[in-house]
Amino acid sequence: MIKRSFFTLTHPRLNYDLVEPDPKEPESIPIPSNLILLLNEPIDSTKEALIKKGDTVKKGEKLRLYTESREYTISPVAGTIGAIDIYSDDFGNTSTYLVIKNDQSQTTGTDSITYDLKDDIASADEYLRTLPGAPPLKILASNDIKINTIVITCADTDLLSTTNQYIALKFLDQIKEGAQLLKRMTRVAKLCVTVPENMNIQGGFDTIQVFKTSMEYPSNLPAMVLKDHLNMVLPAGKTPEDLGVCFMTAEAVISLVKAYKTKSAGFEKILTIIGKQGTSYRVKATIGTPLRKIFNAFSIHVNEQDRIVIGGPMKGFATYTPHHPVQPDMDTVIIQDRDIIPELSDNPCVNCGKCIRICPANIPVNILVRYLEADQYDEAADKYDLESCIECGLCAYVCTARIPIYQYIRLGKHELFKLRADA
Ligand code: SF4
Ligand code: SF4
Repeated sequence: MIKRSFFTLTHPRLNYDLVEPDPKEPESIPIPSNLILLLNEPIDSTKEALIKKGDTVKKGEKLRLYTESREYTISPVAGTIGAIDIYSDDFGNTSTYLVIKNDQSQTTGTDSITYDLKDDIASADEYLRTLPGAPPLKILASNDIKINTIVITCADTDLLSTTNQYIALKFLDQIKEGAQLLKRMTRVAKLCVTVPENMNIQGGFDTIQVFKTSMEYPSNLPAMVLKDHLNMVLPAGKTPEDLGVCFMTAEAVISLVKAYKTKSAGFEKILTIIGKQGTSYRVKATIGTPLRKIFNAFSIHVNEQDRIVIGGPMKGFATYTPHHPVQPDMDTVIIQDRDIIPELSDNPCVNCGKCIRICPANIPVNILVRYLEADQYDEAADKYDLESCIECGLCAYVCTARIPIYQYIRLGKHELFKLRADA
């Protein structure tokens, strides 16, 4: 494994967006008649399932596939299960999707199921993993991972998104309350918060240590926060949790606070939507809402070859279906008109060196990508630092030959993981 001097040549060219000083309330999207929930476990036809098509579900009910399943989802509505089927992600990994037919009269007339929530992390992990913001409760509750620092992110990680800044501006007291709740639940000694340096928050964060992050991308990515504010270098192939640091969005923190107050789950996710003309909308939609319902609400017409990007422009991934549902960790959705989608190419690298100059991890990207194009993943990791990549996407952004470098890198890491698992 190569160990390179890390982050020595960073000249980011792109600035994060800043939330408006006095933002409007998000536009509420009505709960649709069908919701789609994703469950991070594949269907196993040899086992008897706990849930099946036609079953009735309550609002707030925990849904698992099998008795021994550790993965679950929570139904945001009362209704019936309309379908259970295989879902494949962009790498071909399979999991499961459930369609819940919403019984409007039951959903609006009934309170959500209440849970026996105690001030400990195992209790939260039992019911609250799918709250808006996707709190990393599985990590915090794991006996195998020792977390000593929690970083609450009010600074959004990708460009164009202002979801977590908005929450910090509007719900500062709940974030402070959430920090105390997390301290009690996890007994983690150190709590910090990231805030964009140009953002003006009245009143401050009291005893929580504040990291003012630069407006220049990719300062808010976890690897950069570790380096710039916690004086830690993320080793190749490691995650922040391996260093004892857990990142949690501002939205996840306030969702936890609300859940503990009501002893039940919340389901309204706040998203930043970027329309075809670059117009930004802030919306509140129930988890499981198909994206087309949001596009319809803003009269955004989706043509066949338009591209829907889940996440920001640098780190997002494309889905070609407007039926893709709102997810607990989905902060940003961008829709690009088919006529303005930048073309990728199969042109060879012209050795311009732009990718090397911009890479914050100092990776020889031009050579790395050749190994990835040739499916030589072990060599890419051992000789050309694939695993040191912090997945900022800057190399792909500047590439003269328009090589989809970022996609190659994500696929390369995925294939490497599979190769090692097989070995
Ligand atoms: S995505 Fe590209 S620029 Fe960013 S760290 Fe990885 S190789 Fe470097
Ligand atoms: S930016 Fe693209 S074309 Fe230029 S050296 Fe890197 S991979 Fe090659």
